[in-house]
Amino acid sequence: MKAALLYGVKDLRIETVEKPKVGYGEVLVKVKAATTCGTDLKIFQRGYVGGVIKLPTVFGHEWAGDVAEVGEGVPWLEEGMRVRAGNSSPCLRCKMCQKQQYNLCEDMMWLWGAYAEYIKIPARIVNLNTQQIPSHVSYEEAPLTEPLACVLHGLEKAHIKLGDTIAIIGAGPVGLLHLITAKKMGAGKIIISDMIDERLQLASRLGADETIDAKQEDTVESTKELTEGYGADIVIEAIGLPATWEQALKMVRKGGTVLEFGGCPPGTEIKVGTEQLHYGETTILGTFHATPAHFKKALNLIASGNLNVKPLVTRKMKLDNIREAFEILTTSKADIKIAILP
Ligand SMILES: [Zn+2]
Ligand SMILES: [Zn+2]
Repeated sequence: MKAALLYGVKDLRIETVEKPKVGYGEVLVKVKAATTCGTDLKIFQRGYVGGVIKLPTVFGHEWAGDVAEVGEGVPWLEEGMRVRAGNSSPCLRCKMCQKQQYNLCEDMMWLWGAYAEYIKIPARIVNLNTQQIPSHVSYEEAPLTEPLACVLHGLEKAHIKLGDTIAIIGAGPVGLLHLITAKKMGAGKIIISDMIDERLQLASRLGADETIDAKQEDTVESTKELTEGYGADIVIEAIGLPATWEQALKMVRKGGTVLEFGGCPPGTEIKVGTEQLHYGETTILGTFHATPAHFKKALNLIASGNLNVKPLVTRKMKLDNIREAFEILTTSKADIKIAILP
């Protein structure tokens, strides 16, 4: 089968590899669509993430497809069913799993291999994090279950209240997912900042009340002005840079919450003023990934029509052109997610 393998930074090759063989409890799926993700782009551009990815590997982790082969011991799946699976599954045995913090599992199983004609789902992920896709949900929408699950996890921890003012730093795929989800959760005013005009325009179309052009404006000052000088109730960093993590701390009101969502390069640190934590009672949250329950919830939300993720897929391309797709994501201004169609 044809597959896109990542060998290192910016080294993505289309190769012919053996189609995976299915064992007990496993399922082989014919990939119909796989969407690009900010995490993929980061790994493509700067490598890293030890433990989460080992190179070379078939790349990609957001996908949907049709069951092609079912191993023994999986009575609930049959050939031809439309399915998707999360890119992880916890062990259920470690301390974190026992505390029901499954996203922090010490022995997490990760699944890569979406940019290929077929993907094999390991037994643990078949069991805990595979869902059938309702017939009215398209192959291009269903993969967004993964980033949406992570966003749901973050927003649940941030405890949005009706009418809250939310400031989001970054109008990329994850910033925009926060925007549409926070809106549904009853946020009042949503302010979003970015350096790219096209992204801010899309954010406005998706319901942002105010946009800040970070090329021209001081994001902290503009946020203050838009919040009567106080700062936002909740600030969400959706970029993944220490500088914007620190900026988020300056945009929150006293007693507010900062959700540091974007993963920064390894080894980096930020500075937090003790006075802000003490006198300002700022809550600083980091959140990572999601639990199988969030994946299920995310797919249900997409299927319900309550959250429209379609506008985030801005282009479709063939698997053969995947390198070009990543070049576009590196340089283009308007593209959010590209659906790769094997
Ligand atoms: Zn993703
Ligand atoms: Zn565990």
